[in-house]
Amino acid sequence: MSKLRSIETSFKGAAPHFVGDGFRVSQYFPAGKNLLTRFSPFILLDYNQPHYFEPSEARRGVGAHPHRGFETVTIAYDGKVEHHDNSGNHGVIGPGDVQWMTAGSGVLHKEYHEEQFSKDGGMLHMIQLWVNLPNKYKMTKPKYQPITKENISVYKLSNHEGEIKVIAGEVKGVKGPASTFSKMNIYNVCLKNHGKVILNEPSEFNTGILIINGEMKINNDSIYKENDFILFDNVEGEIILESVSEDSLAIVLSGEPLNEPVIAHGPFVMNTESEIIKAYEDYNSGKFGQLNF
Ligand code: MN
Repeated sequence: MSKLRSIETSFKGAAPHFVGDGFRVSQYFPAGKNLLTRFSPFILLDYNQPHYFEPSEARRGVGAHPHRGFETVTIAYDGKVEHHDNSGNHGVIGPGDVQWMTAGSGVLHKEYHEEQFSKDGGMLHMIQLWVNLPNKYKMTKPKYQPITKENISVYKLSNHEGEIKVIAGEVKGVKGPASTFSKMNIYNVCLKNHGKVILNEPSEFNTGILIINGEMKINNDSIYKENDFILFDNVEGEIILESVSEDSLAIVLSGEPLNEPVIAHGPFVMNTESEIIKAYEDYNSGKFGQLNF
């Protein structure tokens, strides 16, 4: 029998709070559990669990704000969100789409409910993940990757047990469309009832799973439910996921740790205190650009 990759801990997100007036998020880390560099290169996970927004003429969301030193990855499960940044990038993402923004040296952006979605109202269900940049790429030019669901690679499990939708990295020979600055695998695992999959993540990768929907038995042992986050030990071994509810869905985050100091303050994530001070100075002196883009 193959070795299994054991579970270090599982936890839930912090009590939900609003980001602007458009996103009701439960923060898994660092607020729910302060993982510091334990889950590098992933530094923050905000989960907007399914939440109904009433129809509104006013657009809900977050106004212009800066970021530097990392990437924001927004993964939509339901609802539509629109993005603008001062590098001239603009996009709308809906169910199944992903927006991968590299803040790098500095970007100002705003994130709003898409216009028609605001007017109609509806369920919003999405994730925003912050992925740290290695020191040598912290000041890289800002970049924007719109990844539509049509571009996301799909690995079909045998016997119609489900599928794996690969956003970044490679799973079972299938490569995801996102370009990344360090090695990582990010993918959604969709399983039918009793659908089963064996995952093989490198032991040195920090690996965690957030259950989005349904219930899954992990490693033929414990059952975890939606909103549970499971962090695995860095040991050699397979991860076995089995759906024990009708349909289930989980997102797997797995990446090679950067092994660099992390100093995070507000919207900036750098390696030293002085780089954080510099980020505030640059932002306050207008080096990130004008707020009214
Ligand atoms: Mn932002």
